Amino acid sequence: MNLDPFIFRHEGVLIGMRARDDADPVVEEVNVFALRPLRREEFEVFTLDLCHNQMDRHFSRFPEEELEKINRMVPGRPLMERHDLRGSLPRGTFFRCQLHREGERVSARPDVYVLRTRENEDFILNIEGGVYRETSIGFSFQTPECSICSRDLRTCDHVPGRTYADATCHCIMRGVLEVIEGSVVPAGSQGTHFIAQERTLSLDRALVLARSEYHRPVEVWSKRWWAEE
Ligand SMILES: [Zn+2]
Repeated sequence: MNLDPFIFRHEGVLIGMRARDDADPVVEEVNVFALRPLRREEFEVFTLDLCHNQMDRHFSRFPEEELEKINRMVPGRPLMERHDLRGSLPRGTFFRCQLHREGERVSARPDVYVLRTRENEDFILNIEGGVYRETSIGFSFQTPECSICSRDLRTCDHVPGRTYADATCHCIMRGVLEVIEGSVVPAGSQGTHFIAQERTLSLDRALVLARSEYHRPVEVWSKRWWAEE
């Protein structure tokens, strides 16, 4: 079976700003990505909670080994505004990531740097002021595994969110291939009205498309089931 990767986005939350701490090797770590050495006052650092191992409101979940993979893939990826991969350039660069543990919950928690340019002034102010506080990250992964029957969700009939003999069906995301970008979105937005411009889809929409593609006859195999650019 040769299925295309599963691409969608995942909401997270902006944790806060990184305090200026002299013991923190932040300048060295940021300068791995800069073409000339930056001084600490030239950039701001924000921390985000990117994704975690708990079932989210889209009934999907990352197993811990996939979070470890994401953790390694995030540094170097761009921070965008509202997933706008066509009209705008990145606002920042993720430069490091760590796995953060709080009881059962494990999350991938990267730091991103944003240059204090004139153009980024409003952007930084909106984050500092708590107006831009939600994040959304685009991923691709190989297998949406069904938590009920362990098959690929595109090939079984279980519905994420529905309960089967006391267990809620959800999607276990396996085989992460790529972290595409991370975006800041305005508070209160689910990002839904940006979907039309995106390369990535919400899980429920992606699954509907993937299933209809899977159940169609053979000629569809060469086609991609998500919207082409
Ligand atoms: Zn199933």
